[in-house]
Amino acid sequence: MIVILKPSIDKTGPEYTTLMDYLSNQPGIQVRVHEEKGSQQILTELYLVGDTKSLDQDDIKCLPGVERVVRISQEYRVLGRHKDANRSTEFEYNGVTFSQDNLHIFAGLCAVDSPTHVEQMMKVLQEHGLETTRMGAYKPRTSPYAFQGHGKNCLPYVFELAGKYGIKVIAMEVTCEQHVAEIKQALELTGNPTGVMLQIGTRNTQNFELLKAVGRQQEMPVLLKRGFGITLEESLNAAEYLASEGNRKVVFGLRGMKTNMGDPHRNFVDFAHVPVVKRLTRMPVCIDPSHSVGSRDYAPDGLLDVFHVTAQGIIAGANMVLVDFHPNPSKALVDGPQALLMSELPYFLEDCRIAREAYEKRQQAIQRIRPA
Ligand code: PEP
Ligand code: MN
Repeated sequence: MIVILKPSIDKTGPEYTTLMDYLSNQPGIQVRVHEEKGSQQILTELYLVGDTKSLDQDDIKCLPGVERVVRISQEYRVLGRHKDANRSTEFEYNGVTFSQDNLHIFAGLCAVDSPTHVEQMMKVLQEHGLETTRMGAYKPRTSPYAFQGHGKNCLPYVFELAGKYGIKVIAMEVTCEQHVAEIKQALELTGNPTGVMLQIGTRNTQNFELLKAVGRQQEMPVLLKRGFGITLEESLNAAEYLASEGNRKVVFGLRGMKTNMGDPHRNFVDFAHVPVVKRLTRMPVCIDPSHSVGSRDYAPDGLLDVFHVTAQGIIAGANMVLVDFHPNPSKALVDGPQALLMSELPYFLEDCRIAREAYEKRQQAIQRIRPA
């Protein structure tokens, strides 16, 4: 059960104290306090866990300071929708709003290789009005002999260049708690010129200790990739690990599933699950067409498969696109074969706009024709 408090509530006042005293004295019930920081206000939510069947929803609704009470299903306690249309489906970070109702394009390097490539990339993004990118510094690789990323050494120049070109959020994978500390430290040392969305990769979706550590820090949002060989439910529970530790600024990333049936793509594209994740949870949903498709193959209509699957995800309501670009893919140290070219960025963005517009028109059409 979730008890949503009045937005104005004073946590040092008598209303709050009386309420907490009452709830903490209910046998078999533990109270966990969660804060939802929106762009306008901070909402306090109390999560009642334990034997909540004995609690009367109407009694609790009448307690001082309470705005409403939501009975939750067993699943996805923090991130679930729980049939309550008023639960927020957005969050804000570094001046950027992430929501189930908007769309951001995170075009960038799969892996940071050189300052020149980082600068070339960010310059082009700025020229096209983009404020978000992807830049991998820590790369989990299949082979221990493959390039593992420049790690913390590249962070200062990546962050400084982001500041120079007006980039507000960089999606960057972390594979252990130490990486989070290194990112925080580098941001501080460079004077916070940008922000970082911590990415948890598909190989770490169920690395519970990593999830807990990343969830404990509540500053930076998290992009959690779906596990490529586990059920959707298992991946959504992984997201709940982040939220249950206190960080509910989570974006859920679809990136294709590992199955031979996905041939000829690197992974079996799962973007039909965009609306499913939006129905089950309050998370904005990201699609990663690059790691799903894994190549630069063209269809006979002249469009790259990467363009096609991106459009499929966006027309289904995706809120974020994580996509690999590179100024010189043949020189890329990771995933060159799937990278789009700088010269393709305007076409890619135009294709995204067309798909987004089509999604919005579909939404308007259904409002018009569906009986009230
Ligand atoms: C990535 O985005 O660079 C990446 C490695 O993705 P995934 O974890 O989905 O393979
Ligand atoms: Mn990659």
